[in-house]
Amino acid sequence: MTLWDPRLMGGRAPDGPGLLRNFVGGEFVDTGTRFTKRSPVTGEPVFEVVEAAESVVDDAVAAARAALRGPWGRMGERERAEVLRRVADELERRFEDLVAAEVADTGKAISQARTLDIPRGAANFRAFAEIVATTPTESFTTVTPTGGRALNYAVRKPVGVVAVIVPWNLPLLLLTWKVAPALACGNAVVVKPSEETPASATLLAEVMAAAGVPEGVFNLVHGFGPDSAGEFLTRHPGVDAITFTGESATGGAIMRTAADGVKAVSFELGGKNAGLVFADADLDAAVAGSVRSSFTNGGQVCLCTERIYVQRPVFEEFTARLVERAGELAYGWPADEATVNMPLISHAHRDKVLGHYDLARAEGAQVLAGGGVPRFGDARDGGAYVQPTVLTGLGPNARTNTEEIFGPVVHVAPFDTEDEAYALANGTDYGLAATVWTRDVGRAHRAGARLDAGIVWVNTWFLRDLRTPFGGMKTSGIGREGGVHSLDFYSELTNVCVDMS
Ligand code: NAD
Repeated sequence: MTLWDPRLMGGRAPDGPGLLRNFVGGEFVDTGTRFTKRSPVTGEPVFEVVEAAESVVDDAVAAARAALRGPWGRMGERERAEVLRRVADELERRFEDLVAAEVADTGKAISQARTLDIPRGAANFRAFAEIVATTPTESFTTVTPTGGRALNYAVRKPVGVVAVIVPWNLPLLLLTWKVAPALACGNAVVVKPSEETPASATLLAEVMAAAGVPEGVFNLVHGFGPDSAGEFLTRHPGVDAITFTGESATGGAIMRTAADGVKAVSFELGGKNAGLVFADADLDAAVAGSVRSSFTNGGQVCLCTERIYVQRPVFEEFTARLVERAGELAYGWPADEATVNMPLISHAHRDKVLGHYDLARAEGAQVLAGGGVPRFGDARDGGAYVQPTVLTGLGPNARTNTEEIFGPVVHVAPFDTEDEAYALANGTDYGLAATVWTRDVGRAHRAGARLDAGIVWVNTWFLRDLRTPFGGMKTSGIGREGGVHSLDFYSELTNVCVDMS
């Protein structure tokens, strides 16, 4: 079975279908060695990818710098908003190509790509077009009279060349979440998608060209992290700011590299998110929501729940229902509409997740559901699947309850009091997201105040308004993006003080 239909690339790649190239100054270039991207569904090769040599990264940064000096640098925010809307239109026109690219790279269910990943690409561009065009001009030009003697005003300017480095779990969604506000603010970008998911970013380059984004405003370099395109980019003196989504440890490495250039950073990093189910919760909603929050995208969403603490009176019932539902999640080929489960991104990641399953057992966990590898009797046996897994029996300080696993796995444990629930939820180095299930309005607000998390969901999960601040506390990130918070990162303010005397 071919997951990637070469016709979707429009026959444009001169080196044959499935060759993914870098995009520099408005041109596709193929200087560099090649690496093979394999399907997580079958293990078979799906793409050849050109790894950007350091000279290509240099050219991409230079092209971005040049674009800032051209017509792009002179556009006002309303004109840029218009460009963003054209990008959104073009993303919608290429919708099915993008779905195919995302499914080929990740093995995610086509229904999810169609309803979540790919629509959010266009939605990100539309949202930031709106935000930059409608944010009151005061926040662009703030006038402060100084005792009648001077007039101060602040001018908002682009930061310059922004490096955008993103992971593989929601490739187009996370890439456009950063490219859209960066362009809205008038920057030029050099993006590096994950080596595991090069396809949709390559299509985004085609989209940029088709939408008339000026040459050099959007550049794409493929490759890996250390000693490859990621590191070349983060230590490049021509890069002014780095926006990164990925593991906390990688964030630390990038920060060290970026320190020499004192580059601005915005980091969206890992999580070890807790769900809290109180005894007064709507249990049907709590079970359904917890299944989604633990197993969506194979548990490979930074916001997924890996620990659920349940108030003791409902612990047994909640756990039994969660275990039952985990076992019912449908396997299938990605193209089957009913498919829910997906493989992990790679065999290397599967080995890591299976290592965590072994560790949990060694720590004394009971495996209530899953815990191994499914067998299909077809080509998917060559893929990177693991079973959705429910664990119990471990204390809060077990490694299973403190380290991010990033797979379809959740540990459940009981608690007694509200204070204890917050202490358990807050008991890791991470602080990205928390989910609370309760009918008590006061408790809902207390949870928001007391949980160490960039987002606290009450009686829902993954519901997002793109104008709200998004990011993590503790090792889960630095800074906030979303709405005007994104404008703050992707622009600089100059205060102009005019002496009127
Ligand atoms: P990763 O940190 O391994 O890689 C992310 C990106 O950084 C890739 O493009 C990679 O090539 C690049 N990279 C790696 N090392 C680098 C280096 N030294 N210098 C420059 N670039 C480097 O993360 P991953 O495995 O791709 O993604 C999973 C992680 O992402 C999880 O920890 C997850 O929680 C996190 N994540 C966070 C959010 C969020 O919004 N907070 C969203 C999605 C994923």
